[in-house]
Amino acid sequence: MHFDNTWHDELQGFYRPLAPTPLKNARLLYHSAPLAQELQITSLFSAGADAVLSGERLLPGMQPLAQVYSGHQFGVWAGQLGDGRGLLLGEQRLDDGRKFDWHLKGVGLTPYSRMGDGRAVLRSTLREFLASEAMHALGIPTSRALSVVTSDEPVYRETTERGAMLLRVAESHLRFGHFEHFYYLGQQEQVQQLADYAIRHHWPELQQEADKYLLWFTDVVQRTARLIAGWQSVGFAHGVMNTDNMSILGLTLDYGPYGFLDDYQPQFICNHSDHQGRYSFENQPMIGLWNLNRLAHALSGLLSTDQLKQALAHYETTLMQAWGERMRAKLGLFTADKHDNDILTGLLSLMTREGSDYTRTFRLLSDTEAQQSASPLRDEFIDREAFDGWYNVYRQRLLQEEVSDAQRQQAMKQVNPTRILRNYLAQQAIEQAEQDEVGELARLHQALLQPFTDVPEYDDLSRRPPEWGKTLEVSCSS
Ligand code: AMP
Ligand code: MG
Repeated sequence: MHFDNTWHDELQGFYRPLAPTPLKNARLLYHSAPLAQELQITSLFSAGADAVLSGERLLPGMQPLAQVYSGHQFGVWAGQLGDGRGLLLGEQRLDDGRKFDWHLKGVGLTPYSRMGDGRAVLRSTLREFLASEAMHALGIPTSRALSVVTSDEPVYRETTERGAMLLRVAESHLRFGHFEHFYYLGQQEQVQQLADYAIRHHWPELQQEADKYLLWFTDVVQRTARLIAGWQSVGFAHGVMNTDNMSILGLTLDYGPYGFLDDYQPQFICNHSDHQGRYSFENQPMIGLWNLNRLAHALSGLLSTDQLKQALAHYETTLMQAWGERMRAKLGLFTADKHDNDILTGLLSLMTREGSDYTRTFRLLSDTEAQQSASPLRDEFIDREAFDGWYNVYRQRLLQEEVSDAQRQQAMKQVNPTRILRNYLAQQAIEQAEQDEVGELARLHQALLQPFTDVPEYDDLSRRPPEWGKTLEVSCSS
């Protein structure tokens, strides 16, 4: 296991060194065995993992620090934020050259805690754990979660909850807000230093290019567009798309309030505190661009206005293309036809009207036999006539394709998950885990790691949610 910390060594002035403050009676509750395997650290879990994952013992090479950044929150400049309850412990270097930040969340007060207590509660820690593992398995770029530590330390939110820590890993925790921070302080040199750091470590192929900043920013724009297309295609909504939660590398970062669609409701707001619906499901593509505009502003010392505009212009085309490709695959279309968009919007408007379950609809659609008008999907619709009308057109379209039903069904089941992390499923696993019982958590985790595979013992996790499960409230108090 090899750790260093390039942020520490190369970016002095961009952080404060700090050790975690341990929790009372901290103990490992659960960890992701597949991730431990990928990181080649399974030996850690046979000896001494609790102390490391609860911040009580550092591994050789780790140099914990809190990063400083700023951001726009809900459309308003918020000034300095920073790691208020998380620390970058170090960067793990794998034998194949890949590098991962180890970030421990819930470590106690930092110079950037502002009014907060520096802690994370078990509930939200488990929610982040499950969501990031689920997103990874769905093929969406994301930070990942290695472990959850629980404790006997009381943490006060709306009620008294248990303090916990999440060890998450990501290629980088570099945020839009890091650039905004130094830009708004008027520290242009630092903005450039940060851009050079990003390129050196994450876009090394651009280092020798004359217009490296333009190429780099263009790639950030495109990654962001592809990320949000990915979110939209699996029905994921990030509840707090503030610029401090936006990853420069195009990863899903900082799972606070988030939600996967149950019913298809474009106006779905997953964050109970988002009264205006700024981050509603259908707004997220537009918000991605708004956030990129804030980043562009922060980069205005490195790039001309024309260059910034040129890069930003890639957003919409990249997003529409990435989303189109994903939705075409969800419909099982291998070739392109000019009427395909009508087929897609026809289905989506039918689903909106009916409040169809987003995940189930596409999974059931994957069983379509092009020559058969019968489909289990029909029973999901109240307006059967409207469904039949759409389904006939769809089946006619499938007949233009040269693949067999079996081939198409197989391909569709690789992109249309049978199960996603529904709020109520997370809630059930969390309620058990709060009693130190991890059976349901482990089962849900295992099931979410193979979202495209039918497994009879997980059938209950693919069902429509009960009514109470659709109305659980999730807010920022995590
Ligand atoms: P978020 O939108 O949840 O990613 O957090 C926004 C800002 O609030 C970040 O600077 C966090 O570090 C900080 N923050 C959130 N919760 C706490 C807490 N309990 N204690 C200290 N800082 C926090
Ligand atoms: Mg955040």
